[in-house]
Amino acid sequence: MRTKTALLIGYDVETPYRSDVTVKFLELAPKIHEEYGVPCTFFVLGKALLYHLDEFKRVKEKYSYLIDFQQHTFSHILFKTLVIEYRNYKLIKGAHPKEIETEVRITSELLKALLGVKCIGLTTPWGYHRGLLDRPDLLEILWRNGIRFTRSWGRDERDSLPLSLDVQPFWYDELVSGYPPILECPIQGWHDNALKERLKSREEYLDYVKKTIDYTAEKNLVWCYVQHDHSSFWNDPEMKIVEEMIEYALDKGVQIMSYKEFYLKKAEERGLKIDE
Ligand SMILES: [Zn+2]
Repeated sequence: MRTKTALLIGYDVETPYRSDVTVKFLELAPKIHEEYGVPCTFFVLGKALLYHLDEFKRVKEKYSYLIDFQQHTFSHILFKTLVIEYRNYKLIKGAHPKEIETEVRITSELLKALLGVKCIGLTTPWGYHRGLLDRPDLLEILWRNGIRFTRSWGRDERDSLPLSLDVQPFWYDELVSGYPPILECPIQGWHDNALKERLKSREEYLDYVKKTIDYTAEKNLVWCYVQHDHSSFWNDPEMKIVEEMIEYALDKGVQIMSYKEFYLKKAEERGLKIDE
């Protein structure tokens, strides 16, 4: 059976120091997903893992049937240079491929050693226009470090937001021959923190979420949603936004999957061998 319309909820857990907000997030988010019985993915920053190790271990022990752990690099290193129009043309410089490789390798090793997780997915910090389509060197680095799916396309041609839902998940090697068979899951729509900076109320944010789910369902698409640990409690101390998002998606017949589940399904559809 082909993949139907789906919502993939991914949280970037990325506070690079000990934070009560992250502690609260790691307590509450798993409970909400447990209550609804729907999975999600935590894209974990290596530094955040080290500063909240007990909390991550607890989540892993109790909720590994629902929560999938992947990575977000060690220190939030940039894969490509950005010039962000809406931030007054702020320029943020991409790192050297060797630094990127070191961070990806170390973070996967930490996830393995500390949580017993085999990391196959990565969200690149910030997100870029066209993801890694113009960076076969970085795709090769990710491939040889065990990464099989990415969330790296998260901005439009002006390095701005939101990215259109019409940019749908794709295999790099199906677009450019010779590239490794990595699945890209573009982060469409707004990054939650960037939209929350612009809005005043939870209701306005929920309105955006519901409209996007409507569009996703109507066009039979996949929405790769991003939320962050540090912005999860914006005007919303109990994360009701996530509860309402889950309820609304289920009501509209949109399946909720983790990124790993989605990757495995897509890999199966194209008959790709998975090395477990
Ligand atoms: Zn991030």
